[in-house]
Amino acid sequence: MTINIEDHEFSVADRFLEYVRIDTQSDPYSDSFPSTEKQKDLGRLLVGQLIEMGIADAHLDPHGYVYATLPSNTVKKVPVICFCAHMDTSPDCSGSGVKPIVHHHYQGEDIILPDDPKQVLRKEDHPDLGKQLGNDIITASGTTLLGADNKAGVAEIMDAVRLLLLHPEIKHGEIRILFTPDEEIGRGVDKLDMEKLKADFGYTVDGETLGSIEDETFSADAATVTIQGVSVHPGFAQGSMYSAIKIASEVINNLPKDRLSPESTSGKEGFVHPVAVQGTVEEAHIQFILRDFDDEKLREHAAELEAIVRTTVHNYPGCSYRYVVNEQYRNMKNVLKEYPEVTAIGVQAMQRLGIEPIRRSIRGGTDGSRLSFMGLPCPNIFAGEHAFHGKQEWVSVQDMQKAVLTIMTIAQIWEEKAI
Ligand SMILES: [Zn+2]
Repeated sequence: MTINIEDHEFSVADRFLEYVRIDTQSDPYSDSFPSTEKQKDLGRLLVGQLIEMGIADAHLDPHGYVYATLPSNTVKKVPVICFCAHMDTSPDCSGSGVKPIVHHHYQGEDIILPDDPKQVLRKEDHPDLGKQLGNDIITASGTTLLGADNKAGVAEIMDAVRLLLLHPEIKHGEIRILFTPDEEIGRGVDKLDMEKLKADFGYTVDGETLGSIEDETFSADAATVTIQGVSVHPGFAQGSMYSAIKIASEVINNLPKDRLSPESTSGKEGFVHPVAVQGTVEEAHIQFILRDFDDEKLREHAAELEAIVRTTVHNYPGCSYRYVVNEQYRNMKNVLKEYPEVTAIGVQAMQRLGIEPIRRSIRGGTDGSRLSFMGLPCPNIFAGEHAFHGKQEWVSVQDMQKAVLTIMTIAQIWEEKAI
């Protein structure tokens, strides 16, 4: 049975307009959890709405996570599927006083944001806008981000739950609903209780273009290079001073320029990238991030970087270095390839709805990459959010509705395949 778009009255757009007005910006400089208390304002609203729908166990925990369960309505034994979205918005752009605007029946015109007319969405700059003719586009008003990343996903999961409750003829197993804080600052799963979550597989609903499904992320390491120079009074330094600052800048200058850097790579190519430098004549530190889709290649990048450091420092008598590599996260494909049905069901759901699936790999990480390694294999499906973390962020109402149907259909297919 195909779930049809015409058969449903959606609440996803209204929910979205309500959620984005609540400021949930996370703060990388905060030590508390969640990093900002205000994220719980949205959490409390969602719990209230879930309870109103009849989801009895919905609750907000002290760390700011919302957990809830949509009970199974089938006699079959279906794996527990979790749908996850994050409630916080990026620290890169203000999220306070968001005034969402619906631009009905978009016809390809420039969209001028009224509170800052310099902010203009042109389809030349946003190629995906060109595919939205006739749709309803939601933007912010020009001075803030919109927050479609990831409140589009939150609203879509909420509407899917409401519709599944309204349509008991659509069979599904137990569905776990999870809304997380602090994803944008990389702490989204730090205080997640996997015991309580008790789900078998999951989907983050935090992808971009309609139809996108991502089961591959970078593997990521951080490397710290510490260079020990030779410090001498500068008035008496001839032939004997070796400045760690200058050696560090030489190391950076010796990095490959036409490959292995973020600015020279794309697709499946990895890189090494200095992100911070700090130093005195005596000692200098360079922080690097190392990225690749392939763990073996990631190790090769780490070795190549060390070789550059070694040969550079080697030219300076009495100088030395320390090189430390720490793991940050791993490509979720390493886990998901053991459970190919998880991504396959996502693809199948989209195909059933007439949405063309776009398989992508993310040149970054997601909560899903960490969740996958915590025991919840978890690809990422589209939420429809575009140009996120900035004032020109936008989402289309029709894409959000299709995401709602995709969530419902994923739940439905898991039930069909169970015995
Ligand atoms: Zn996001």
